[in-house]
Amino acid sequence: MVSLLKMPKNELESLQNTLRDQYEDFKAKEYNFDMTRGKPSSDQLDLCNEMIKDDSLYNDPKSSNGIDCRNYGVLDGIPECKQLFAELLDVDEKNIIIGGNSSLNLMFDYVSQCMTHGSGDLPWAAQGRIKFACPVPGYDRHFTICEHFGIEIVNVPMLDDGPDMDFLADLVKDSSVKGMFCVPKYSNPEGKTFSDAAVKKLAALKPAAKDFRVIWDNAYCIHDLNATPDNLINIFDACKEYGSEDMFVEFASTSKISFPGSGISVIVASDNNIDAIKKRFFAQTIGYDKLNQLRHARFFKNAQGVRDHMKKHAQILYPKFEAVTSALEKELTGLEIASWNKPNGGYFVSLNAMDGCAKRIVELCKQAGLVLTPAGATYPYKNDPNDSNIRIAPTFPPVEDLKVAVQILCLCMKLAAVEKLLQK
Ligand code: PLP
Repeated sequence: MVSLLKMPKNELESLQNTLRDQYEDFKAKEYNFDMTRGKPSSDQLDLCNEMIKDDSLYNDPKSSNGIDCRNYGVLDGIPECKQLFAELLDVDEKNIIIGGNSSLNLMFDYVSQCMTHGSGDLPWAAQGRIKFACPVPGYDRHFTICEHFGIEIVNVPMLDDGPDMDFLADLVKDSSVKGMFCVPKYSNPEGKTFSDAAVKKLAALKPAAKDFRVIWDNAYCIHDLNATPDNLINIFDACKEYGSEDMFVEFASTSKISFPGSGISVIVASDNNIDAIKKRFFAQTIGYDKLNQLRHARFFKNAQGVRDHMKKHAQILYPKFEAVTSALEKELTGLEIASWNKPNGGYFVSLNAMDGCAKRIVELCKQAGLVLTPAGATYPYKNDPNDSNIRIAPTFPPVEDLKVAVQILCLCMKLAAVEKLLQK
């Protein structure tokens, strides 16, 4: 296809007319598609229905060490659940705490704990203005946590193999930079995975703040889509060489393995951090939902059970991602108005439109019956400096809907680009 950037004005004008006609045709069909949030579809949720039907809990509500899961107690999770996650994440059971249904909740609480009680120094809240590094584009809810606590967010460019480490190394010379949020595997939204070298450099990082903490949000740790998955090395293994285990706190959950509304979450941390977190847990709760923990442990049995289960998710998700990326390739290759990723896992396709066009594209799509994540949402303070990034969430709609939705998206991308070029 011909680059739109090199097209003469008269040809652009005639293309605009054709595109407008096509756009009006789509509008007349009154579609109603939603690709905003990365939610599993109902057929993915159905994969775990046996778990809710399980009457073994009724007959035997005791965990492997004889604890009655219906009752109070057990602050850090039942043994079989800890064992499951220890095997999956390749860490020691003593470094694991099982939480409620949301890892985001655990991350929020951890930052809150650092604000009020510190992480090896004065409480963060008593140290004046503090900052967090966030690779961009990134996950909007991480930014929201920082904003909630009045933590200033500093954008760190995300390269293909992880955060820009030179930039980060320079940034953390400032002792008011107290931490970083990151998604090391199949990042949200770009689906990128930190390389071995990037993980090792992070483990070796020497921030000026001795109470610096990396929130290692491993939300997509086993969420592969195809036969060539990415590999992320274990951050805690990498830390051993540098003695930097206290700098990382890892979070994950079964939200996109079992049920987002009723899964289980997990923290992995060093001995010191586990102690501090348990102290806070002790003030906060008498224990999370152990029946749900038991239900999960019995359903999946072991790490291999979870991995096998994720293959069933991949069978549902792969055609959806393929529908999106192949349509983008077919419709946009060569036009020089967009780039996108083709991830091996995770929940998103990240699209970069021509600079200055993302908001317009999202608006055009909305008017044509396709709701997308608002432009800017993948940047702190909703401010994408290039107005370019759009996060596509292909998991929820059926493939047939997705195919039409991506046609609308591609059309709107062309239309917005032509408008922009004609303004020049
Ligand atoms: N972390 C990332 C990177 C996510 O993309 C999401 C959900 O989209 C979450 C965390 C939310 O996790 P949970 O459901 O465990 O709170």
